[in-house]
Amino acid sequence: MITSEEYKARLRKMKINIIVNGERVEDVTTHPSLALGINTIARTYDCAHEPEFRHLATATSHLTGETINRFDHVNRSREDLMTKIELVRALARQVGGCNQRCVGTDALNAVSVVSYALDQEYGTEYFSRFEEYLRYVQQNDLCLAGAVTDVKGDRSLKCHEQADPDLNLHVVERRRDGIVVRGAKMHITMAPYADELMVIPTQFRGEADADWAVCFAIPTDAKGITQICNGGHVRPRRMEKPFSSRYQGSHSMVVFDDVFVPWERVFMCGEWRYSGWLARLFGDFHRHTYCGCKPAYTDLIMGAAALAAEYNNLEKASHIRDKLFQLIYHAESIYACGVASATLAQKMPSGTYLPDVTIANMGKYHAGLSIHEEIAILQNIAGGLSFTVPSDADYFDNPVSHAYIEKYLKGKADVATEDRLRCFHLCNDLCHSEVATFTMNAGVIGAGPAQAQRITVLADYDLESRKRWAKEIAGIKG
Ligand SMILES: Cc1cc2nc3c(=O)[nH]c(=O)nc-3n(C[C@H](O)[C@H](O)[C@H](O)COP(=O)(O)OP(=O)(O)OC[C@H]3O[C@@H](n4cnc5c(N)ncnc54)[C@H](O)[C@@H]3O)c2cc1C
Repeated sequence: MITSEEYKARLRKMKINIIVNGERVEDVTTHPSLALGINTIARTYDCAHEPEFRHLATATSHLTGETINRFDHVNRSREDLMTKIELVRALARQVGGCNQRCVGTDALNAVSVVSYALDQEYGTEYFSRFEEYLRYVQQNDLCLAGAVTDVKGDRSLKCHEQADPDLNLHVVERRRDGIVVRGAKMHITMAPYADELMVIPTQFRGEADADWAVCFAIPTDAKGITQICNGGHVRPRRMEKPFSSRYQGSHSMVVFDDVFVPWERVFMCGEWRYSGWLARLFGDFHRHTYCGCKPAYTDLIMGAAALAAEYNNLEKASHIRDKLFQLIYHAESIYACGVASATLAQKMPSGTYLPDVTIANMGKYHAGLSIHEEIAILQNIAGGLSFTVPSDADYFDNPVSHAYIEKYLKGKADVATEDRLRCFHLCNDLCHSEVATFTMNAGVIGAGPAQAQRITVLADYDLESRKRWAKEIAGIKG
């Protein structure tokens, strides 16, 4: 397993083609807009070497028997799934939410299941290629972004019906040694500083869209790939933005302009019947992961809210306790879905364990519905100061404003004003920052909007047995 310094050194040697704020990035590792994202990935590497994290952050490779970083692991047991959400929850508390690597990990897990099934049905060799690729990923301790979401164009049209066929990524040429693909993937978290992209179809492709049923892995600096990345604007802080001044994610539109992919990295090519299952499985693994990271953000909201109430000497007020209860309810119910879906996980023929689909989807659904309410609770408990809290410079650098802030922003007598300010800066970061808007958006839309979870659950849920029981009790025959 490598360290964060080795990860950065490797990244420095890559020639990833990225445009941020209109300018081409020369060195990803020193660009100010990308530094905070790299800090987060660095934590995912370093935690695997730390005694207090190691038991969560490492796994045993089923291919080599070696100890590997858990983010490169395919879940081989219920315990693996359980440990994954424990890791994600613990890490998310440190980095202010998203660790960014789960998308790639969840894509690896989905591909492991489907490539095996494809070989059984069609006699292809996708699974052996996949295992070879996984071995390479694990041995080099690579970090992968998951590129699932196409730009999609007109949402009411199928891929081949679009005015421009490139609005969904597709195969434009099949060669003896590989395929050539064209299209663009959108919102791809950590793509600017990932080693590789795992590309899978966004959703089901019908027979006429067989060229769009394609799955492969590719280095981020492969010829023909250009990223257009939403860079953040950061500056050094002292007590402001305790999370978002240290950790943030970057997301790219990743353009594939006739990119060559050798066959050994192709895991689906035209088998359209399996495209929907691959997309759905990715969603199921990813929604299970959300059951770990979303409660962690609620832990942070809860901690900040309870501290703000304490510093205002309101912690015993009954409506405040009701609101704290509501936060506990959300965090622990969502986490319980993660635990339950890991406990009821099913072993797939490939040997990969799939979390219980209904419960994992319910956890993500709950997380998407609750995130705005949770932030509103923190805003409510913290009051206006969470938004208007004076800046670092006003407090530390100007003696006149410092004296007034010290006197007038005192809360409970035995709490230092500076501590109270630090607490409200944390509230500010959790409610009114890039981390906060990222978390709200990721909660609602990431891993698919609520409708995606409804469709998934209703597709397989056994409503017929419920109707039968209702009939029996009501005395309806037939
Ligand atoms: C913070 C963040 C990080 C992300 N990271 C990644 C990542 O790392 N990798 C990745 O692949 N993706 C990532 N995503 C993408 C995410 O999975 C998508 O945003 C999500 O699946 C929705 O797709 P969309 O944004 O294209 O919205 P749309 O598909 O345009 O959906 C918008 C709305 O339209 C509805 N809708 C869409 N099509 C139809 C239709 N045919 N009929 C009826 N209703 C429809 C949807 O239900 C939804 O309500 C990320 C998203 C966010 C916000």
